Amino acid sequence: MSIFNNLQIAFKDKSKYDLNRAYLLFKIISIPFISKIMTKFVKLSIAFGIPIEFFIKKTIYAHFCGGISIEKSQNTIDRLWNSNIGTILDFSAEGKNNEIDFNRVLNETILSINKAKNQENIPFAVFKPTGLIRFSLLEKLSSKEKLTYKEEKEINDFEQRFYKICKKASQNNVPVFVDAEESWIQDPIDDLVLKMMSEFNNKKAVIFNTIQLYRKDRISYLKEIINHAKENNFKIGIKLVRGAYHEKEIERALEKNYEIPVHTKKEECDNDFNEALSICFENLNIISLCAGTHNEKSSQLLINLISKYKIKKNDTRIYFSQLLGMSDNISYNLAANGFNVAKYVPYGPVKDLIPYLIRRAEENTSIAGQMGRELTNIIKEKKRRKNIKFF
Ligand SMILES: Cc1cc2nc3c(=O)[nH]c(=O)nc-3n(C[C@H](O)[C@H](O)[C@H](O)COP(=O)(O)OP(=O)(O)OC[C@H]3O[C@@H](n4cnc5c(N)ncnc54)[C@H](O)[C@@H]3O)c2cc1C
Repeated sequence: MSIFNNLQIAFKDKSKYDLNRAYLLFKIISIPFISKIMTKFVKLSIAFGIPIEFFIKKTIYAHFCGGISIEKSQNTIDRLWNSNIGTILDFSAEGKNNEIDFNRVLNETILSINKAKNQENIPFAVFKPTGLIRFSLLEKLSSKEKLTYKEEKEINDFEQRFYKICKKASQNNVPVFVDAEESWIQDPIDDLVLKMMSEFNNKKAVIFNTIQLYRKDRISYLKEIINHAKENNFKIGIKLVRGAYHEKEIERALEKNYEIPVHTKKEECDNDFNEALSICFENLNIISLCAGTHNEKSSQLLINLISKYKIKKNDTRIYFSQLLGMSDNISYNLAANGFNVAKYVPYGPVKDLIPYLIRRAEENTSIAGQMGRELTNIIKEKKRRKNIKFF
């Protein structure tokens, strides 16, 4: 029997109220028609300045986010740690476009690294490169178009911010994940992360890149950077994910008439994810690995690899990670069985996190399977609690 089926462990810190709220939320999200109307309503309300923040904060935000600041996320950090689950503080303000916002993301990321210093319960920090630079400029840089003098200066500022975060992470011994985004902005980021790894990962992996296995070219990229690290004597930090922009990748490739860069069969993406796990294990002498996934089969495969390679369950080179509010049956049961687990805990002002929440809703509506799993587990747990007899 799978360890992920123990729902008593999975929902042990959820009150009746939490469970009912989660039930309602996932029920609504799972109905595409209602979910679409709600999403439109939220977008329009924001555009017209209708005050809906209070409502959002009490519902979807309360389920998926830690709090409006690092301090206000402390309850979530403590609650997770009570179940031996670490927190990855993720300042999730998205779609920012100016210098002030970029510096705000830089400062928040530095604050999160300071907070994580010497804290067992916050094993990683994280940031998104597009929080530090304009998306359109990254796109231009990737396409190798000629940049203006002003744009070159912007790129330079971006690299400085990137460097500051990596240096701080190294000084404080806090490993940091660099999230991956759309494939058409990823090349310069990959190059920059590799440069940072070669500078800061000499003794252990502090800088982690993210590899999206829905991309057809990522297995060969993984092999390439492993060889590069071996030749240049540094360690590699890898977060493996399937990838969050599947539809967007296909739409753009069709629109601009280039080869679709992502797998179009789920099975092929799953095979690559699982192959990447195996490749990482074959190279564990230089790799630290985090599997960012809600997929039970891949999580089970990772458990099997840990056992096959006779590695301690709590070896700090291997982590499992899920998002707050999702797949608690995986996170809580893994942690209860002694594996290393950390949840992404998005935090920030409600208004700033609305794009993240909308993405969560849209993404989850489109992958009916995941939503179905969340809802099924919540219903089972509600029934289980109802049937408990008190003598
Ligand atoms: C801790 C954590 C960190 C993350 N960080 C990032 C990140 O930095 N960048 C990022 O892009 N995403 C990130 N994600 C999201 C991740 O990429 C997935 O979108 C999400 O986790 C769902 O995939 P899954 O492995 O959990 O499981 P599943 O539910 O088994 O897989 C769903 C995924 O499969 C892929 N897929 C679906 N249909 C097809 C198809 N027809 N053909 C090919 N592939 C298909 C898509 O990637 C889809 O998201 C992160 C997720 C977690 C849990």
